[in-house]
Amino acid sequence: MPELPEVETIANGVHRRVHGDSVVSVWFSHYREPFKTPPAEMEAALPGLRIARVARVGKHIAFDLSRKSSREIATQWIVHLGMTGRLLVCSPNVPVPPHTHAILRLASGRELRFVDPRRFGRLALHPIEEGAFAGPGREPLTIAPAEFAALFRGRKLAIKPALLNQSLLHGVGNIYADESLFRARIRPTRHAGRLTQEELKRLRTALQAVLRQAIRAGGSSISDYVDADGEEGFFQIQHKVYGREGQPCRVCGTPIRRIVLGGRSTHFCPHCQK
Ligand SMILES: [Zn+2]
Repeated sequence: MPELPEVETIANGVHRRVHGDSVVSVWFSHYREPFKTPPAEMEAALPGLRIARVARVGKHIAFDLSRKSSREIATQWIVHLGMTGRLLVCSPNVPVPPHTHAILRLASGRELRFVDPRRFGRLALHPIEEGAFAGPGREPLTIAPAEFAALFRGRKLAIKPALLNQSLLHGVGNIYADESLFRARIRPTRHAGRLTQEELKRLRTALQAVLRQAIRAGGSSISDYVDADGEEGFFQIQHKVYGREGQPCRVCGTPIRRIVLGGRSTHFCPHCQK
């Protein structure tokens, strides 16, 4: 599952390659799952539109599309990569890989392709009349300290599943939740509503630092995501706890523990995290 840093890297990579280009025609596969908006609706809407900007919103990639003569955004095309979705920008001569579900042919002659073997990814149009696509929760990289603290006030669940709750913060996934709780020295099982102001402050700082570090590194390379060119785009950041069960904590040497919390594999140092 690509996490926020991977999605940011992909969105930025796609933006660099296609902004200013226009959609000439589109093709969609016959599978139903990838299309939150019916393909016929997208076929009617997309051709002729100019790609003004591509940016990450939560774990979604939002394409701002305008009419050629106008700077105003006419509609947004929203891509969620799901588990295995990829966006490729390539020449039409490149063989179309299996599991390709969408092809946008661009005025430059290139194609933007959406490939997704497991079909958990989603493509949709977002009508701009409803305001810019904002996703379900708050943006972890820009949320203010007071708003961050308010998200967890009175919450009876553990802080780790609270961090993963996309209707609170959007885009935080399993790896970076574990890594930021380690940095903030907070045990993942702690009651979200009982964290002190000081701990919440540390957690927000840690979460933002971990995400920014991963974005700088190009996202974490735990899987076979490729960037918009189809090339390997990701470099592993050094995980402090994630995936390190039984290995010594990089701070104190205590073996890292793994538990299952809210159905998700959770890693922490029983000494450093209180
Ligand atoms: Zn430790």
